[in-house]
Amino acid sequence: MSERTILVWFRNDLRIRDNEVLLEAMRKADKVLPVYCFDPFYFRKNPSGNSKTGNLRARFLLESVADLRKNLRQIGGELIIRTGNPAIILPQLAEQYHVNEVYHHREVAHEETDISEEVETALWKIRLNLKHFIGHTLYHKEDLPFPIKDIPDSFAVFKKKVERDSNVRSCVGTPESVKTPAIIDAGHLPALQDLGLELPHDDPRSAHTFLGGENVALDQLKQCFTNIEQLNKNKNARNSGLNDHSSKLSPWIALGCISLRQVYWEVINHQDSNSHYTNALLLDLLWRDYFRFMFKKHGQKFIAAKNSNVKAPTDAGEHDILFESWKNGETGVPLIDAIMHELNATGYISNHSRQITAGYLINDLKIDWKKGAAYFEEKLIDYSPASNWGNWAFIAGVNDARESRYAIASKPAGELETKSGYIDSWQPVAKLS
Ligand code: FAD
Repeated sequence: MSERTILVWFRNDLRIRDNEVLLEAMRKADKVLPVYCFDPFYFRKNPSGNSKTGNLRARFLLESVADLRKNLRQIGGELIIRTGNPAIILPQLAEQYHVNEVYHHREVAHEETDISEEVETALWKIRLNLKHFIGHTLYHKEDLPFPIKDIPDSFAVFKKKVERDSNVRSCVGTPESVKTPAIIDAGHLPALQDLGLELPHDDPRSAHTFLGGENVALDQLKQCFTNIEQLNKNKNARNSGLNDHSSKLSPWIALGCISLRQVYWEVINHQDSNSHYTNALLLDLLWRDYFRFMFKKHGQKFIAAKNSNVKAPTDAGEHDILFESWKNGETGVPLIDAIMHELNATGYISNHSRQITAGYLINDLKIDWKKGAAYFEEKLIDYSPASNWGNWAFIAGVNDARESRYAIASKPAGELETKSGYIDSWQPVAKLS
């Protein structure tokens, strides 16, 4: 009998640990062909002239793919890397390596699912099946206590029911070895310039370093518990409000360098002594699930169920000037400008900063929230379609999700006093010198 080969198409699951697709392919086939495609779709300009992927996020992606290749090589495998449309590349590789089936993780937002459908159709033409796995959420879709169409739109109700009536599955094992066919041309990692992007300049003011890949993600997870232990010891920090428990894991979570389940079970292991901060972290993981499931339930309607009641400026020229001033951190509101400078320089801002700047764009400048969301899509290194568009739509009030915790979203003035150190450090570079 001839050997069976399964092609594993990596997308936003750039890890070998807790990766059901990889593990199942190894169980079901004699050989596994891991492939990553840099799809030019993600590096083109969007209608407002911005890149879909900015250079900081693209660099993080390149580092993550390089790390995945390294990890696969360490267990005897290889990662084929190509630049091009996966609907063309995957069928070609499937024919070249006599592949029997293709596996991948299902996505939820429409651009990503359109690409899967295109790949599925192309594979079908050569009589190959694209098998979809569910693996990006904390709670498995099949373990939810309700069908997708009945998922509560209220986060509070969703949380209550899921926590009461469902469980988070254990992580799947890590493969010790993987057999790939003899690979003729594994392909090179493209340079940023090959993707049409310039090298980013690393701003020394950045408080965080983000290096892509599964190995760094695991280090960051450890670091997060060290930080939480310190916060727990320092009771004054909590009382004075300096209780930032945030894990800074979002860029790795967005690319699947680490799974939500891995984070969850580590949190549970640390929970006894650290309940205040660890509970806050568990809540945040659930928000991610919520936005993803809302997209699954409503599709595009989740971000367009109602018209925003904010009236846009009628003068198109004025509108453009205001939007440019927001993007460039030139609104004249010190906190907004400082946050936008931080975003532009580092690709990462806190959740609170995102709420403030989004609320300001929507409520004060009265600009279409979709323009802001598209700008965040380019700039954020943790960009994730459901989280970004879902949070923006939530702040804009255009969907039916209730129980918003975003009451604080548009109050920059009160923040000014407490954030003066921050504002000073995020002046435009020219003003500092
Ligand atoms: P932690 O507080 O440590 O939380 C742990 C994880 O939970 C995060 O890494 C993230 O994966 C998830 N999470 C936390 N809060 C949220 C939330 N409100 N919605 C969804 N997931 C959440 N998050 C993204 O991952 N990608 C985005 O593109 C994105 N765009 C956003 C746009 C706006 C306008 C707003 C208000 C929020 C956005 N968020 C997005 C959510 C949130 O700001 C970030 O996930 C969080 O700041 C990341 O920092 P952290 O890893 O330290 O989070």
